[in-house]
Amino acid sequence: MKSIAIIGAGIAGITLARQLQDSAEVRVFEKSRGFGGRMATRRSGSFHFDHGAQFFTARSKQFQKLINDCVAENQITAWQPRVLTLDPEEKPFKREWFEPHYVAVPGMNTLCKVLAQELKVSLDTQVASIEAEEQGWMLKDYVGNRLGQFDWVISTAPAPQTDELLPECFAHKAALNEVDFSPCFSLMLGFETAPKLNFDAAVVRNSALGWIASNCRKQNRPDSSSLLVHSDNEWARTQFECSTDVVRDRMLAACAELLGDQMPPPEHIAIHRWKYAKAETSLEDDFLLDEPNRLAACGDWCGGSRVEDAFVSALKLGERLKTICCREA
Ligand SMILES: Cc1cc2nc3c(=O)[nH]c(=O)nc-3n(C[C@H](O)[C@H](O)[C@H](O)COP(=O)(O)OP(=O)(O)OC[C@H]3O[C@@H](n4cnc5c(N)ncnc54)[C@H](O)[C@@H]3O)c2cc1C
Repeated sequence: MKSIAIIGAGIAGITLARQLQDSAEVRVFEKSRGFGGRMATRRSGSFHFDHGAQFFTARSKQFQKLINDCVAENQITAWQPRVLTLDPEEKPFKREWFEPHYVAVPGMNTLCKVLAQELKVSLDTQVASIEAEEQGWMLKDYVGNRLGQFDWVISTAPAPQTDELLPECFAHKAALNEVDFSPCFSLMLGFETAPKLNFDAAVVRNSALGWIASNCRKQNRPDSSSLLVHSDNEWARTQFECSTDVVRDRMLAACAELLGDQMPPPEHIAIHRWKYAKAETSLEDDFLLDEPNRLAACGDWCGGSRVEDAFVSALKLGERLKTICCREA
């Protein structure tokens, strides 16, 4: 059997590993301590926050099938929040969502964790270099430890990180440089007294903020009252070099402007900075494959910018690699 190293335990990496596990020796390397990548959940005492992806939709048959299976196992549930559009200059108005929206339970990160149950995953392991050896690719960490030799290496990291990681011989370096990612800040607020909000989630316009969600009103979350606030992506670009304390205070001021006395003083405040949050320009290719060098890449930035796009990109690359592995066997 061929050996395949997959970099990243987000939805793309885990989907790809599941696709390939019967056709190859697959190992996943993830630099964080947990699963999920940008489908992230942070716990602080009794407060829980999905501070990356908020929800997902399913437009393809394959993703809908995965969702149906996970709904049956209580790993995913439909989310039907009351959604408003907020604008500091306008009256709030109600938004209708015309397609089902889903969340993983009890946190967004748990989906990848349950899907990875049968897989070989090395967490807390950052791949720093990929070097050619006679028998294949040698992966090393930052202190030069050898992580293993593999026939194939596939990166599911965001395109700029994939560009840094994959060797110069990768045939699609130019395509990686076409992808533009915008950043985002996530402000996490925990309250002793619940804010009296007339919405569960809000899309925000003309503000430093882009989104507000009452995390505790998603299904199967702890009762402790928590708000998750995302910055606007373009605003985040302008603030990216500022200290997180400055950004936090600016986002808190924007919350106060929008919510007024609906929001009591928070008991818990934390901020997270996403350097690569959203693929603003993505590729039309479903994945990038360099068969002669046995290197490839996939993720949400191939064909879109959302959870489902990452899943579909990985699924399509998996189908192609399965064929190649069968042919090479
Ligand atoms: C703030 C925010 C809000 C979002 N909201 C939504 C939303 O509401 N709905 C939606 O559909 N999508 C949303 N998204 C986008 C969604 O999260 C992504 O499309 C999806 O999670 C991407 O999955 P992925 O597997 O392609 O990449 P990632 O989840 O980024 O996974 C890549 C993984 O690779 C790992 N990695 C990188 N470099 C290395 C290395 N050298 N060694 C080892 N591991 C490495 C990373 O740690 C990461 O875990 C949001 C994203 C953010 C950040």
